Amino acid sequence: MKPEITVVVSQGPSHDPTKRSREHEIADRLSGRGDLEVLVVPHLNDLRPDGDSLGALRQRTGHLIVFSWLYPRAAHWILDRHRISGQRGTTRLHLDTDGEPSDETSSDPQQEPVERVIDTRTVPTRAIYCIDLRACTSADAVLQEVEHILTETGMRASRSSMAASEGNGSRPWRSIADDIQRRWYPVIDFGRCTNCMECIDFCLFGVYGIDESDTILVEQPDNCRKGCPACSRVCPENAIIFPQHKSPAIAGASSSIDGLKVDLSQLFGKPEPDQHSRQVAQQERDQQLAASANQSSDSSSIAPPSQDAPGRDTSDDTSDGMNDDLDKLINALDQFDL
Ligand code: SF4
Ligand code: SF4
Repeated sequence: MKPEITVVVSQGPSHDPTKRSREHEIADRLSGRGDLEVLVVPHLNDLRPDGDSLGALRQRTGHLIVFSWLYPRAAHWILDRHRISGQRGTTRLHLDTDGEPSDETSSDPQQEPVERVIDTRTVPTRAIYCIDLRACTSADAVLQEVEHILTETGMRASRSSMAASEGNGSRPWRSIADDIQRRWYPVIDFGRCTNCMECIDFCLFGVYGIDESDTILVEQPDNCRKGCPACSRVCPENAIIFPQHKSPAIAGASSSIDGLKVDLSQLFGKPEPDQHSRQVAQQERDQQLAASANQSSDSSSIAPPSQDAPGRDTSDDTSDGMNDDLDKLINALDQFDL
């Protein structure tokens, strides 16, 4: 029988020996005890939905403790998009640039409560604790945090049974090797998303879609233009994460990105109180449009449909239709004289 808590150590995308050493030290220190199973997988952001790593994680229905070189919010919602869902656990190990997840959707008590997509879903009761490896400055701190989680979840084995199992090699960590390559795509934080559809209106590359219950989803993640984070700036709820972006706020840190948020109504011709934000988003979008135009004779400029979108039948989607939509959007943008 599998332990009810699985520790996942997600390796960084590079082969940095310092990072590898930290990953292996954590896996070593947590393995060989009866109350935990330890899996080492490639970088969460780059995993393919049909790969062995995500397949193994989907089979684990107990609590998860996930270490990765990502902000916890990004790691949580990457897992969620791959149907590995649960309640978001709070940990005490986090970076100074990050914050407590409990504040994410706090709102003005004078205003009507806003319904988030998460409120419309049934989320499994198991907990998922995502921990940023950059915040794990020592293996001892990691062990203490895991002990704390075990206590919090009521899964702490008795001292005697732990002592009996520690170091006996009966449950060494397991490494899962997947065939992966670097990926760039947005992830939606459904704890914040209000399903307003501004992102699907803004994106020119068919990345977003809607599922059978008319909820926004990232339908074609690999259509996203590498390095383009523009839609994260137009999302009114800061719900769009680019896990690999260099800016903490866009990569999933819990702090807001108010300084670069754009109101689409301003972008499309209304008064312009935030000229800087508008310029940033326009510049990012125009760069991608120019790059796309340069590649227009090459049909590979828009990636083929991905199998990465859960809950959506894409059998009617065609690249012709996508190109038609793209033409219409570009024409519409021209009319705004942006
Ligand atoms: S713009 Fe943001 S809040 Fe609106 S649907 Fe997209 S992700 Fe959700
Ligand atoms: S970053 Fe650009 S290409 Fe990618 S989803 Fe957002 S708007 Fe679309």
